[in-house]
Amino acid sequence: MLENKVALVTGAGRGIGRAIAIALAKEGAEVIVNYNGSEERAKEVKQTIEENGGKASVYKCNVSDFEACETMIKDVVKEYGHLDILVNNAGITRDGLIMKMKEEDFDAVLNVNLKGTFNTIRHSARQRSGKIINISSVSGILGNAGQANYAASKAGVIGLTKTMARELGSRGITVNAIAPGFVDTEMTEVLSEELKESACKQIILGRFGKPEDIANAAVFLASDKADYITGQVISVDGGMNV
Ligand code: NAP
Repeated sequence: MLENKVALVTGAGRGIGRAIAIALAKEGAEVIVNYNGSEERAKEVKQTIEENGGKASVYKCNVSDFEACETMIKDVVKEYGHLDILVNNAGITRDGLIMKMKEEDFDAVLNVNLKGTFNTIRHSARQRSGKIINISSVSGILGNAGQANYAASKAGVIGLTKTMARELGSRGITVNAIAPGFVDTEMTEVLSEELKESACKQIILGRFGKPEDIANAAVFLASDKADYITGQVISVDGGMNV
């Protein structure tokens, strides 16, 4: 389905990004596994893809660094000739109630989640045709107590997605977002059992999602089956946002 396509997935060394990278490669895309701190884990993803007969490379880049993103996109286009699929998955949390939230925690989350998404899109917007998929969150749609920074960043990703869809449509680039609910990854591993149980009560399907649930939606949006879809936010959340 994605043969001859080149895909860049940010934060692909673990969790949802890892699952997306592996799923895109399974469909035939050549995948650049971006990481920032987790080199060994990014290499593991590359190895897994190659063991399954796919093609992958790893690339270190802090997505919150505007110039580093410019270099990354230029390097990818120089090496492969084109970039067809960009998945902005890299993300962090620094949770806390607003009364106690530090300025640096607000800035850090906005810098990775929102500015990081801007940075990669900004430098790849000159491509002709392609698919951009941004990972937002149910928190960006509904809000979530204790996540002012994170929810603002993910709501910002939705605004960015819709605006980029409008600006880049004439170049044949579609831009969509996926809004996951609670997904079993290291990001949610830190939540207490009590919080996880109460979260499950808000999920129609009664359980956390798997990284592969998000990857399935990403593969669809990256494929030509989604050619006429742009500016959309697809919730993959077991029915939290209905
Ligand atoms: P995770 O397991 O904590 O992984 C986060 C990934 O982001 C890591 O691969 C990390 O790479 C990368 N990253 C962080 N800062 C980076 C930076 N400055 N530059 C490049 N990469 C960076 O989280 P996850 O659960 O898989 O989350 C993936 C995405 O889904 C995030 O955008 C998150 O907000 C979103 N999401 C997750 C959930 C959930 O319940 N898990 C729900 C809704 C949305 P390094 O380790 O190499 O730094």
